[in-house]
Amino acid sequence: MKTLIAGNWKMNGDKAFAMNLAKDVAQSAEGLDLSAVELLLCPTFVHISSVAEVVMGTEIALGAQDCSTDQKGAFTGDVAPNMLSDLGCSYVIVGHSERRMGHDETSALVFEKAESAYQAGLKPIICIGETQAEKEAGQTKDVLAHQIKESLPRNAFPRNTVIAYEPVWAIGSGKTPTVEEISDIHDFIQQTVRETLALHTEMRILYGGSVKPENAKEILALTNVHGALIGGASLKAESFIGIAQQVE
Ligand code: PEP
Repeated sequence: MKTLIAGNWKMNGDKAFAMNLAKDVAQSAEGLDLSAVELLLCPTFVHISSVAEVVMGTEIALGAQDCSTDQKGAFTGDVAPNMLSDLGCSYVIVGHSERRMGHDETSALVFEKAESAYQAGLKPIICIGETQAEKEAGQTKDVLAHQIKESLPRNAFPRNTVIAYEPVWAIGSGKTPTVEEISDIHDFIQQTVRETLALHTEMRILYGGSVKPENAKEILALTNVHGALIGGASLKAESFIGIAQQVE
């Protein structure tokens, strides 16, 4: 299983920024051992086509930050998964905490979006994570177990699905759990996913939340950490590739 280093560019930059960043990433990636690392860029919807032009012919994968539960129809403002695969996407992030919280997305909706992604041949990256208040109340594992059981389609398996553990309080804050906490939580997620899906193999689980080149090495070395979902540090090729370089 390759380590997945995924950049979530969120709602940043104009078209020129997105194309230049993709060019810089593609250039800097030339020195990487891509037999061990998979690079993924997730621009905002409107920049996917431009970034696709840049990464076409490279090994860099393309993804989106969200998708509709449906493939077509009267859904003003939504983007269908098959429109994303048509543009060259192979992944789509679903259930990011900025959508769960900012757009009231429930785990039931995330489940439907993941199913819809499968229909278009996309791999959903299903995000889960506890808030600061839930952590302080000692509810982290309960919250994650519910999110896993309610967000994961039962036909999810390691080749078509990725889980991203992103503590909400760690996103964009510069704070991260300790390495011991990340290890404990990822082991718990792995076990819960395997029980939920009756899996005999390992699910791919990314860690996300203030990952940077300086802390990536010890996080990416953990047993049940199979990559990283990166926000802020993915907006510069140097730091994004700097993280990918920490994969052993
Ligand atoms: C994210 O929003 O997915 C994320 C991990 O952001 P950051 O790396 O900036 O904490």
